[in-house]
Amino acid sequence: MNERPERLVLLGHPLGHSLSPVFQNAALRAAGIPLVYELLDIPRSVLDETLAMLRRKRAAGNVTTPHKEAVGAACDRRSDTAIAVGAVNTFWTAVDGALVGDNTDVGGFEAAIRELIGAPRDKERVAILGAGGAAAAVLHAMERWQGARVYLYSRTRRRAEELVARFKVPADIMRTAEDAVENASLVVNATPVGLRDDTVPVSVPALGKDCAVLDLAYRLGETALVKDARARGHRAMDGLTMLVEQGALSFERWFGVAPDRAAMWEAVKAVR
Ligand code: NAP
Repeated sequence: MNERPERLVLLGHPLGHSLSPVFQNAALRAAGIPLVYELLDIPRSVLDETLAMLRRKRAAGNVTTPHKEAVGAACDRRSDTAIAVGAVNTFWTAVDGALVGDNTDVGGFEAAIRELIGAPRDKERVAILGAGGAAAAVLHAMERWQGARVYLYSRTRRRAEELVARFKVPADIMRTAEDAVENASLVVNATPVGLRDDTVPVSVPALGKDCAVLDLAYRLGETALVKDARARGHRAMDGLTMLVEQGALSFERWFGVAPDRAAMWEAVKAVR
């Protein structure tokens, strides 16, 4: 059991571009819950004292870069998903005062995939670019995909090796992003490349003919990867669906009811 939170926050650093308050506050208003979802932009040096304060206030919230692993380590209990991914993006205070952590990035990714390609196809060949927390959420989701294989590229090879060793998905570590996408039926960008400018994490002409593209990054007007891939005839989507859906799943964890997803999307579209 969790208590109805008395405060709702997003922990991260920096948080300048976050859309989470836009759709979470729309969901709170639609549900008639008298809370405001706040940004708490804090460096690692004050994370522990901030978590202690939030626990006293029976707070709940989300966690983003770079605190997902540290908050996971600070939680008294974690869901099986959070343990498997090794990162917490959703937390709340239980009735017994315990800090509980979960990971809804996995469910958010699954929702984005359903929208992009429907159900994952048998023997999906997935290029993953990046080897951080988001890539871990993708790999955990893929453990349920029948016959899937991963081609993973990370600029830091050691991180790639450590990551794929944690998941039950056959994976090859590739030398370049272009090698990774060569035979892929689906490409997932799990790096921040393209988040703030028009750079792309892989040369778009290197994508296979019928390959779909899911960029976990999102920005106003879509990322260059999504725009360029779509212009070359690929199905392509940015990280906004994943973001809104991970937020909707977090809301369900905090309040025990589904949020009004239409109200969340309306609020996002108004600022986009
Ligand atoms: P992370 O844990 O910091 O991992 C980032 C990964 O990207 C690492 O493998 C890193 O490699 C690599 N990388 C960073 N800068 C790079 C560059 N310039 N060129 C090539 N590789 C680079 O971050 P994360 O939490 O996994 O997030 C990754 C991306 O997913 C971000 O854009 C984030 O916004 C997005 N995301 C979106 C959602 C959503 O809901 N849409 C949810 C979670 C994350 P090194 O190890 O070499 O640094």
